Amino acid sequence: YRNEYLLQSFKELNLNPKILQAITELGFEKPSPIQEQALPILLGDETDFLGLAATGTGKTAAFGIPLLQKMDTTKRGVQALILCPTRELALQVSGQIDLLGKYKDIQSVAIYGGASYGDQIRGIRRGAQIVVGTPGRIVDHIEKGTLELDGIETVILDEADEMISMGFKDDLENILGNVPAGMSKTWLFSATMSSEVRKVADKYLHNPKQVQVNRKAVSYTHLTLPTNRE
Ligand code: AMP
Repeated sequence: YRNEYLLQSFKELNLNPKILQAITELGFEKPSPIQEQALPILLGDETDFLGLAATGTGKTAAFGIPLLQKMDTTKRGVQALILCPTRELALQVSGQIDLLGKYKDIQSVAIYGGASYGDQIRGIRRGAQIVVGTPGRIVDHIEKGTLELDGIETVILDEADEMISMGFKDDLENILGNVPAGMSKTWLFSATMSSEVRKVADKYLHNPKQVQVNRKAVSYTHLTLPTNRE
């Protein structure tokens, strides 16, 4: 899938002014290549989605902006899950979601292993609409009954290839298999399309729209803080 027009500005997307304001404050002037391709699709009709893009390309905002735009803030409970391979990425994504969502009063909570359950449970109960976390700890919360999947409308897999190579495939399948069927959509992002990623995509994505940015596409990696991979 390719966009037939080039997006010059976030203003062309009919975004909620509260989200546009947050984008402006983050200093994003024009959409990056992955955003240019993904935003019109993800802001449109509900669809599953497969995006091939590496970290540093602006993929967090590529899924974060449509997620926030479409979220109904009058509903209570967790409405979206964002699955990440590491604690660092979960914190980074959660931080960016909170900045993009601050004027729409949308909050996320980061959930990862090695930290206390208490704070994470309080974060969920306080009304976070978005849970960003590592698959293992998310499964733990589901099994303890501290995270309900009933209201989940969107599941996003960030760095799916990394999650699989770090051994989270069973946890991913556990989560994807337990989200209420027919009620939700799945957006999968991965830097590479390994055969394992392909298998997960084939099993859990239904007629996904696909976009790809090549590895040489503009990278904003220099803007991010160095992260330590676990
Ligand atoms: P990501 O690929 O989502 O990890 O994003 C990498 C970095 O690019 C982050 O620091 C973002 O804040 C930044 N970024 C994302 N989109 C844009 C944009 N359209 N213009 C400038 N910087 C951006």
